Amino acid sequence: MAENINTPTAEENEKKGLNFVEQIVWDDLQAGKNGGRLNTRFPPEPNGYLHIGHAKAICMDFGVAEKFGGTCNLRFDDTNPVKEDVEYVDSIREDIHWLGFDWGDREYYASDYFPQLYDLAIRMIKEGKAYVDDQTSEQIAAQKGTPTQPGQNSPYRDRSVEENLDLFQRMNAGEFEEGARVLRAKIDMASPNMHFRDPIMYRILKTPHHRTGDKWKVYPMYDFAHGQSDYFEGVTHSICTLEFVPHRPLYEYFVKELADESYCPRQIEFNRLNLTYTVMSKRKLLQLVKEGLVAGWDDPRMPTISGMRRRGFTPQSIRNFIDKIGYTKFEALNSVSLLEHAVREDLNAIATRGMAVINPVKVVITNYPEGQTEMVEMENNPERPEEGNHEMPFSRELYIERDDFMENPPKKFFRMTPGGEVRLKGAYIVKCTDVVKDPQGNIVEIHCEYDPLSRSGMPGSQRKVKGTLHWVSAPHAVDATARMYDRLFNVENPAAEPDRDFREMLNPDSLKIVEGIKVEPFLAEQAKEQGRKFQFQRIGYFTPDYDSTPEHLIFNRTIALKDSWEKAVANAKV
Ligand code: ATP
Ligand code: MG
Repeated sequence: MAENINTPTAEENEKKGLNFVEQIVWDDLQAGKNGGRLNTRFPPEPNGYLHIGHAKAICMDFGVAEKFGGTCNLRFDDTNPVKEDVEYVDSIREDIHWLGFDWGDREYYASDYFPQLYDLAIRMIKEGKAYVDDQTSEQIAAQKGTPTQPGQNSPYRDRSVEENLDLFQRMNAGEFEEGARVLRAKIDMASPNMHFRDPIMYRILKTPHHRTGDKWKVYPMYDFAHGQSDYFEGVTHSICTLEFVPHRPLYEYFVKELADESYCPRQIEFNRLNLTYTVMSKRKLLQLVKEGLVAGWDDPRMPTISGMRRRGFTPQSIRNFIDKIGYTKFEALNSVSLLEHAVREDLNAIATRGMAVINPVKVVITNYPEGQTEMVEMENNPERPEEGNHEMPFSRELYIERDDFMENPPKKFFRMTPGGEVRLKGAYIVKCTDVVKDPQGNIVEIHCEYDPLSRSGMPGSQRKVKGTLHWVSAPHAVDATARMYDRLFNVENPAAEPDRDFREMLNPDSLKIVEGIKVEPFLAEQAKEQGRKFQFQRIGYFTPDYDSTPEHLIFNRTIALKDSWEKAVANAKV
């Protein structure tokens, strides 16, 4: 065959920045397959909320379609009424939109194809390619054999077409109990591919379906539904994760019952996203929700899209992270630090800066006039000078972080100490002159004197001191609550510990609620708007929680400013 001189080599594709799936798609388009059409699909089962692993699939399915001018369908793979719910359908739509993708009017449901799938099953029965098996699932499993040992034929395998037709129709009419009978494809009980050993096509389920009600009593299995649904929708590239590699021959087997040379969907697999310090199994996530171990699917500690949104992650940061880890043919465990890095990078660019004191201690500037307030200028975002400044009140009584003061400091402690000078960010240089303690010896007040000439614009403004602290003016500060989130599990890969109950590996410190933090008035005002992203100077990135109200502000800590966890782990190892 003559090489099309326009077809780039793999190296050339690599240079263009195509991943291996995009290369396959590009080659198919170049070869004019499927009439030059490109149509992908994202096929969630509405049995849970989407997580960051799904985001990887979404970025692939929608991304490749966008890149090459194709379309991407959203197809709800709703073939199991027992586990599915409209709540999940709604959340899935919202999450995909939030990530920045749109399926237009191409929203489909596998359940829409139940009639065609049923017709195909009838046709296969008539052609001697399917039979009704009366055995229990245990009996069927016992006959499956092993990868090295052939299976045994079912005693019902050679039923007549008439009997099969009659029984299958009666299965769907509700005459038999769940589990009493299944419809199986008659392929090969000795096939080296276990999925070819007379796979189940239909089972009886009597739970009403969220869309089709009690119209159907038989429901197609994934393998009998997926490829055909792709075909009915005109999907050209059915991109999924590596665990479906062994299913591919069966996908092709069933699709062949429908397709011809002019159009045939094709399955391509890439590696799943697995993240450290969390679990990605929907079953386990559902268990955490059901048992109240988290506050819901959108608990900010969950690896769900809705949890990450509530926590304050941005869609851009999630997409950047997914771009960075890429798509391969090898399973891997990705470090959550990479995701956190992407989150910090994006928030650093967009977050509004403000001052908040998490663990306040009172500072009194004894030489500052009582009752006086002056306004100092604070930059809203040094990364975006166009966002301008805001004003922040300075007065005689302030709050600083308790940790920023030490009475007996070690060397290299450049924060506030008795007799030492520090700058209050954006304002004056102060020197600690005294501390006031309660009878137990706890510090209740720190007394300072300020240098009136050290403010910006004054002659002493260039004077250098080693430390700069954040602060808020006590009479102007607004009280708020901070929810400090950390990793949900304290084991790197909970899924790799099959002998332990995964719930034992939950991080007991994954949420700390801090009441009575002090925030500057500007922050309090801005935080009335949901979805805002803030950097509390020197502390971390925060966003108002859904529970936050103008009367009682509640901030979620999205992430600390620096990767203190990695540091703590590294130190612990030394
Ligand atoms: P289950 O089938 O156990 O309910 P699932 O996570 O496979 O869970 P689906 O709703 O079937 O959920 O997934 C929809 C799509 O998302 C599939 O194409 C699947 O391959 C993909 N997907 C799911 N988990 C991941 C992951 N961790 N990384 C990448 N893609 C994923
Ligand atoms: Mg699945």
